[in-house]
Amino acid sequence: PDAITVQELANRMAERAGDVIKSLMKMGMMATITQSIDSDTAELVVAEFGHKSKRVSESDVELQLQGKEDSPEDLKPRAPVVTVMGHVDHGKTSLLDALRRSDVAAGEAGGITQHIGAYQVKVPSGARITFLDTPGHEAFTEMRARGANVTDIVVLVVAADDGIMAQTVEAIRHAKAAGCPIIVAINKCDLPDADPNRVRTELLQHEIVVEEMSGDVLSVEVSAKTQQGLDKLEEAILLQAELLEVKANPDRRAEGAVVEAKMEKGRGSVATVLVTKGTLNVGDIFVAGAEWGRVRALLDDRGQRVKSAGPSTPVEVLGLQGTPVAGDEFGVVESESQAREIAEYRQRVLREKSAVAGARGSVEQMLSAI
Ligand code: GDP
Ligand code: MG
Repeated sequence: PDAITVQELANRMAERAGDVIKSLMKMGMMATITQSIDSDTAELVVAEFGHKSKRVSESDVELQLQGKEDSPEDLKPRAPVVTVMGHVDHGKTSLLDALRRSDVAAGEAGGITQHIGAYQVKVPSGARITFLDTPGHEAFTEMRARGANVTDIVVLVVAADDGIMAQTVEAIRHAKAAGCPIIVAINKCDLPDADPNRVRTELLQHEIVVEEMSGDVLSVEVSAKTQQGLDKLEEAILLQAELLEVKANPDRRAEGAVVEAKMEKGRGSVATVLVTKGTLNVGDIFVAGAEWGRVRALLDDRGQRVKSAGPSTPVEVLGLQGTPVAGDEFGVVESESQAREIAEYRQRVLREKSAVAGARGSVEQMLSAI
């Protein structure tokens, strides 16, 4: 069961810790101020003080954050969310840059592109694709570990002159563990020693059978340097998205995940949020991990102010009370008091965890000093 320290319990009731200890003594319990008591005992103490106790748990929080299940007719197609993975130097960053430059909306909207951890491109047909531009396996696994499963499709970059390497295999493993379909981007096809066939053959050993080998994994030959094949890659992503039927209900309270968060001089805490369902609006009250806030402003991936952001749209959110962590879940709630309560509960859990870790750390320090 959830435990709470005597001090914390006193703080939460705005009572003196000494009085809590006295009340525990009356129940026949000797406790010190730093001692943890179980939630049943805590409830008795709370009743003794005449407070109404409210037991909050992570499952309560989840319930409050999640709205109703969407009915199938409310779901509308949304842009697929793509993460680029692959071995170091195979061209992940170059490919993300090249794809971003291929955006046809860039000319329309103008504005300087901002690095906010994710961006969206519009292809000539008008369809959109969202790319998480924090490549690397750590970002992907870290987000997943924190419960943010936002990636629909993994683009596996393999350099045609180098073939399958250690981190390629690792990326395949991560994508499979996440249940994300893979599209293979055979990069650096402009090089004279490029050997795309070798890449396709080597992939067989890792149970990736591309279409050319009569499998069902899409693969595209590209060059981030010459931009060759980028349109084909985008087509493949959109085709895969259609097969996956990526959809979301835009007409509900927004939910999403924090992609990036930092404290900025003059702007306060800023988080890039990828909306997964619903629509986020200026003025909305939200919880992001153990932080909360009210949306003061939303900025898109060009740094332009927008009033709202629908599913698969990455936006910078201003108006946070503190700085959340990448991978934290994001959700709009009904009231400020609800947002506060959830954030306070989660902060308390974090504090208790770090207190335990701290205690452990100091014992280790003590031992290593001997
Ligand atoms: P990352 O480590 O996977 O992010 O790889 P980078 O994007 O940093 O690229 C590694 C190196 O490969 C850089 O020197 C790039 O200029 C080069 N590179 C990337 N893509 C291509 C390509 O399509 N063709 C050629 N010739 N070089 C490329
Ligand atoms: Mg890179």
